[in-house]
Amino acid sequence: MKTSLPPLFHSLTSCLTDKENATAIKLRLVKSSEFENISDKASASFSRQMDQSGFAGKDRQVCILRNDQAEIAEILCGVTFPLSIYAFALIAEKLKSEFSSDFLKTATFAIEGSMSPEDCNAAAIGWALASYRFDAYKKDKKSNGHPVLVWPVAADKKRVTALVEGMCLIKTLINIPANDLGTDELAESAAQIAKQSRATFLKIVDKDLLTQNFPMIYEVGKGSARRPQIVEINWGSDDHPRVTLVGKGVVFDTGGLDIKPPPFMLLMKKDMGGAAHVLGLAHTIMSLGLPVRLRVLIAIAENSIGDDCFRPGDVIKSRKGLTVEVSDTDAEGRLVVGDALTFASEGPKPQLIVDYTTLTGSARAALGYDIPALFSNNDKLLDEVKSIAMANEDPLWPMPLWQPYLKEMNSTIADINNIGSGKAGAIHGALFLQQFVDASIDWIHIDCYAWEQSGKAGRPQGGADTGMRAILKLIENRFA
Ligand SMILES: [Zn+2]
Repeated sequence: MKTSLPPLFHSLTSCLTDKENATAIKLRLVKSSEFENISDKASASFSRQMDQSGFAGKDRQVCILRNDQAEIAEILCGVTFPLSIYAFALIAEKLKSEFSSDFLKTATFAIEGSMSPEDCNAAAIGWALASYRFDAYKKDKKSNGHPVLVWPVAADKKRVTALVEGMCLIKTLINIPANDLGTDELAESAAQIAKQSRATFLKIVDKDLLTQNFPMIYEVGKGSARRPQIVEINWGSDDHPRVTLVGKGVVFDTGGLDIKPPPFMLLMKKDMGGAAHVLGLAHTIMSLGLPVRLRVLIAIAENSIGDDCFRPGDVIKSRKGLTVEVSDTDAEGRLVVGDALTFASEGPKPQLIVDYTTLTGSARAALGYDIPALFSNNDKLLDEVKSIAMANEDPLWPMPLWQPYLKEMNSTIADINNIGSGKAGAIHGALFLQQFVDASIDWIHIDCYAWEQSGKAGRPQGGADTGMRAILKLIENRFA
């Protein structure tokens, strides 16, 4: 096993400081409705500088005002309230591009005036996200020289830190290439995260998956030298409501014998993106000390081609007892997650099960890269999650568990096929998973892409967190 993975936690000390600094450069947040008043009162020189930069107090605009000695007097930043995390990340990135890295090594910035705690948190989170770069494999570290902000006065440092660490942990785990992050290393990362919060950690590896009845995880992963496993983390008091998170941890997906063409295989290190999401969310929940009894299950395998790999046409008897005909070895995520969902439904009943899986291309065809598809066996819960997600800059969009499509997954020789005929691939994936969940437990399934395609402020190209903050908020609303 490789022992030197890049650091999993993004340090906030490189971008946020406790030191009150009299010489800190003032950031004045301006709403467009205030612009006229500010512009009327400004000196002729400041007025001219605002004109020249085209500053009109519009959202995400930045204007550096200099005095007669060419020193920075203050920086105007156009914003709307409530403050957007990603708008503030863009402001941080604009400032970074305005100054040399030498200047930024010694300069600090401070927001002028007071803001609500929520706005202070949003500013700090956006600022910190803008400082994230995955450069562990580069000689030239682009993460150096990020502007430093004095913590906004009313910010909840513990909350901001827990959230940013969780979000960046997701990105980093996805970004680490599959030659370094194999099945053992993903399990080891989970162990590290569990240890940090004094959670218990268990894993079941390789042939033990058969003796302990996780046949689908074993079958998917048995063709790889890097052995399949399931990881279990438990944390919190037994008196608290039980929440179980389930993640798909396919560390690399060739598609198996139904091999993917090169353009579709290129990003497949991200096929453990679901596992990354549950680890990031679990880290945040544990760091915040939320009053839940948390259980995390991660189904880990590498979908490889080898002498012993599973084949199209194989029939696997699942943990649940249902037999599954494998018509496509590239629809492997639902197999490994299926056994984990059965396991999640056993024992003391959780109030909520949430799974994150990079499951289908069909979900992308429907909703694009940025919006994960959201499914639930409880329609009220589905509406609630959608509202929370859309109000928190962390979109998730509902799709139906349309039962009539289940017959499109009929198999002539087994209880169910692992793919469906017809067009509704994301719904087939979700319906398949539903067969393994106890129907009396509220269940949420998130079919995510886990990758930022184009690169945006606070969301650099690469591994991406989507729907983590939304589910955190749901858990806080319901149980905290
Ligand atoms: Zn696949």
